[in-house]
Amino acid sequence: MNDATHPWLDAPLRTQLFIDGAWRASASGRRLPVVNPSNETLITEVDAGGEADVERAVRAAARAFAAWKQTSGAERGTLLRAVARGVEARRERLAALQSLNNGKPLAEAQMDVSDVVATFDYYASLADSLDTTSVAEVELPGADFRAWIRREPAGVAALIVPWNFPMVTTAWKLAPALAAGCTVVLKPSEVTPLPELELAAIIQEAGLPAGVLNVVTGTGAEVGARLAAHPLIAKVLFTGSTAVGTQVMKTAADTIKGVGLELGGKSSIIVFADADLDQAVDLVAGGGFFNTGQMCSATSRVLVERPLAEALLARLAQRAEELVFGDPFAPGVQMGPLANRMQYERVTRAIETGRAGGARLVAGGTLPPRPGYFVRPTVFTDVPDDSPLWRDEIFGPVLCVRPFDTEDEAVALTNDTPYGLVATVATRDSERGTRVAAALEAGVVWVNAPQVIFPQTSWGGYKQSSLGRELGPFGLAAYQEIKQVLRPA
Ligand code: NAD
Repeated sequence: MNDATHPWLDAPLRTQLFIDGAWRASASGRRLPVVNPSNETLITEVDAGGEADVERAVRAAARAFAAWKQTSGAERGTLLRAVARGVEARRERLAALQSLNNGKPLAEAQMDVSDVVATFDYYASLADSLDTTSVAEVELPGADFRAWIRREPAGVAALIVPWNFPMVTTAWKLAPALAAGCTVVLKPSEVTPLPELELAAIIQEAGLPAGVLNVVTGTGAEVGARLAAHPLIAKVLFTGSTAVGTQVMKTAADTIKGVGLELGGKSSIIVFADADLDQAVDLVAGGGFFNTGQMCSATSRVLVERPLAEALLARLAQRAEELVFGDPFAPGVQMGPLANRMQYERVTRAIETGRAGGARLVAGGTLPPRPGYFVRPTVFTDVPDDSPLWRDEIFGPVLCVRPFDTEDEAVALTNDTPYGLVATVATRDSERGTRVAAALEAGVVWVNAPQVIFPQTSWGGYKQSSLGRELGPFGLAAYQEIKQVLRPA
């Protein structure tokens, strides 16, 4: 059983728009199909929002802002904590929705749910602290004046998110936006709207006032672009491809909106010869195959110091061949399908083009056509410098292994990309770990650690990977305006 009648999905699915505290059909009556990537069957249809729905949602959010911005940080913290508890209480259903709609194995979907809980709890505590920290007196050089800096909620925020970690990318935006006192119009990916709609239902149950959160499902062109252009939106926070992020920024420029972008990546893992080989294989496989490689943070360039290169390549090939892929609900499955047909076509094309361009396939590759968007965990080596496999974000379970001889060469190869999201370093030499981490143009560096992300830290990258930072206090600051108030002493 692998559809909307799955036993975990005990209640009907949410499929309507959530606007001004109520579930509504789209004004046009149009609906969009939602497909199960494991078998390509239709799960359900959701309402396809359009201009009229965006207008209604933005106006509801603008009306709600007047009262929401007056609430205390502690009140907002209490609501965010209630959301976290609501998510915990629906853990199984949310994980099942995530697996059903995105295709990720249940164990990975459970991690996503835990991340959502941790994010709402963290921003609940930051919201609490705003009551004492949002107004701070500034020390001035003379005795004539006194000045204060106030951090105030920015207004209505548009949140536009992709399909690879649906609830997580949403929580990383939504929790700080609500904590700061902003109201929100959220546009989930048209590929994976189901987890977000369930999250909206949980937030409604937690008692968020009408209009504070609005969810408009629909296409990027009809809903996303309209939100980026809307004059009543103060901030637009986007996670997705660099191409669309560029469009969002251009559109937002017309009304000088604050823009936050979390975009693509082409990241490296650097394995030095002194690394623990078992750990290195785990780190490489995790950075390449987790979430079927559909991670902006995928470390798809594997740089390995020459003395260890042959051993690592052999172990990695074995790991790739042994990895169990299949239905995300089946016990023992470690990797699901790609999340949608377009992505499947992109990844299979990248693998075939890479092979044709002279890269050597060491493990995996495409599969004969069958229901579901499956590709095998794939490892290449001898990848030419100008190959799209080496240069472009593939966004699938495809790794390129390349030997290096010196630390400087590894750093240069890692930095040789227009992106700069993350990197991983595997070495037993602690000083080298610190030195290389400092030399890399990346927003996150994991040294001998898997890709664990704590909401207390930061998320985002250098160069064309990001504009701004999410998580930590930076994530909250993205939703605040700064106001100076000055008076005679
Ligand atoms: P996408 O850019 O196609 O879509 C992202 C969102 O933007 C979707 O909701 C889509 O409907 C919407 N959209 C599309 N056209 C739009 C337009 N003209 N105006 C406004 N919105 C529009 O990305 P995707 O294929 O859903 O996701 C994969 C990409 O996301 C990858 O490049 C990946 O690296 C990136 N990503 C980045 C991070 C990060 O934190 N840096 C995290 C996850 C994914």
